[in-house]
Order: sequence, then C-alpha cells, then structure tokens
Amino acid sequence: MRAGARRHVYGPVPSRRLGRSLGADLVPFKTCTYDCIYCQLGRTTNRTLERCVYVPVEALLAELRPALCATPAPDYVSLAGSGEPTLHAGIGELIAGIKRLTTIPVAVLTNGSLLWLREVQDGLMEADLVLPSLDAGDAGLFAQVNRPHPGITFEAMVEGLRTFRERFQGGMWLEVLLLAGVTAIPAEVEKIARLAGQIRPVRVQLNTASRPPCEEFAYPVASESLGRYAACFPPPAEVLAEAPPARTRPESAGGITDADVLGLLRRRPCTAQGVAVGLGLHVAEAMKRLDALSGAGAVTVLRRDGLLFYQAEGRGHAEDFLLDIGPGLQ
Ligand code: SF4
Repeated sequence: MRAGARRHVYGPVPSRRLGRSLGADLVPFKTCTYDCIYCQLGRTTNRTLERCVYVPVEALLAELRPALCATPAPDYVSLAGSGEPTLHAGIGELIAGIKRLTTIPVAVLTNGSLLWLREVQDGLMEADLVLPSLDAGDAGLFAQVNRPHPGITFEAMVEGLRTFRERFQGGMWLEVLLLAGVTAIPAEVEKIARLAGQIRPVRVQLNTASRPPCEEFAYPVASESLGRYAACFPPPAEVLAEAPPARTRPESAGGITDADVLGLLRRRPCTAQGVAVGLGLHVAEAMKRLDALSGAGAVTVLRRDGLLFYQAEGRGHAEDFLLDIGPGLQ
C-alpha cells in the first residue's frame, strides 16, 4: 500500500517517550471523553462516552500490515492519534491482531478516563505499555483542566487507574501535565503525587503545555519548576517537557490549509514534527495532511539521517535545503 493510501496509520514519527513510533488513529478527529484546556488539537468537537467501532479493525490491520514490514522497524506501534483511543470498542481485537502480525511492542496513549470500565481494562490487557494521564489531584481541578464528559467522575477515573494497574501485567507510565497557576502549585502537585503513590505506575512522567494549547490561559511551566516538582513523586518523576513555546495564538487544526503546509514545504523541507511545530498542528494531524499530499503527488519524501523530510514537489535541489535546516523545525 502506498504511504498516500493510509488513512488511519501515520509515521513512524520520532517520539520522546517511545523512540520511532508507528501511530494508528482509532477515532475521528477530536472524538474524546475530555476537552482539555491544554489540548493541542483544538477544542473537542465530539465529547462522548459512546464506545463503538469507529474504524473497522480489519481496515486498521490492513494499513498496519505493510507499515510493520518497513525497515528499519519502528520501536513501538502506538494506538493514539487525534482523540481517545479507548473509545474504540474493538481496541482489544486490534491489539490481538497486531500481536499476530509482529513482535513490535504495542503502546496505548490514553487519557485513562475509561479505565473504570471492565471491558476497557480487558481490551488493554494484551498491550505492552499503557500511558494514561492524571492531570489533577481533585475533582475541582479535574473539571477545570480536563473538562470531562459529565458521565465521568474524578473518583471513578482515579479508581480506574488504580484497579487497572493492579490487573495489568505490562508497563504503565503515568503522564502528569502541569499548568502554571492551575496545577503547578505545590499543594496541588502534592495531591497528584499522593494519588500517583496509590496507583503505583512503573514511571511518572511530568509534562507541560509545550505546544500551542487550545485555550490561551493554559500556560506552560518553566522546566526548572518541573524539575523541582518531579522530586515530590515517589519515585521521582521524569521531566518530559521541551522548552515552552513562544506564546503565539494557537491555530485550530481546521484553520490550517493544505496551501499553508505546501507554503511551508516550498520554503524548507521539514519532518512531520517540523510541520506540526511550524503550523501549530498535532503531529498526527500533520502526518495525515502529509500522507494525503504525498498521495496526491504534491509532496515528495526524502530520508536523511533516519528522519523523513517532506518537500513540495517541483521546488528542486532538496539536498541543498536539507543542509540548511535549522534545529527549530526538525
Ligand atoms: S489532550 Fe487528549 S484527552 Fe485531552 S482533549 Fe485532547 S485528545 Fe482528549
């Protein structure tokens, strides 16, 4: 299958946590149980608890099959993308299907909001790694930061994380995203750390809003402060965040056109992450755009130092431009 024929599979993309990660997007754009104020995909357009087979499992596996054979092999297959993957009712069947195809480990990036549902826990049992989130230490801040579907309570969400950890034999890495003036306050971090101590994940990873958030009032935390907060967790958390971005107005994914992507690529070839950072898109959305443009013959792909660079067709002398690329857009 040509890369351009992919609809739900993207990458591999470089990931700070997972190395080279082959992504699968299980739900339509911004179909999520939360509407987090820091979401880099924009506001949630379909906040739901409805679990269904949004994409047929066989279609996902058909797209994954050739991508899994590509060399070099990705470090992980990641079920993630542009919404909450556990809303896909066939996630267990999908993980089992991937396991039949490959020995590459399967990671699930989830907000953890549905882990109190036994069927969701059951569906994740064959995954190698589950990376849920916990962004608040009480119901008030949970409502303020994650803006969950009214059917999700803070207590049920935390209990889901705890019971899942007890049952799950694979790795569990808990991501805690702190926001300046909201949750990055010593008393609030201590509450989150206490809960993390009860959940007992293998790792706690601290993050902040390092990409343009959907609400301007979601401010990132300075990396020195994250370092200090990391020491509150038992065992100490790992700090994931990149340097906070310049506070430019975030673009919603819908506001970026293919012409914007081509405009950028005409000026300098970029990786998908470069496009994402450059245009304020989630990397999954950037990959989708690039795959579609590649399929339409509007961009070509070059490999350099293990990274895939995209350039607008007809711009010429890509190698010269690759030498010019600064670190900011890679
Ligand atoms: S950050 Fe994740 S969990 Fe929060 S709204 Fe965006 S996609 Fe949903």
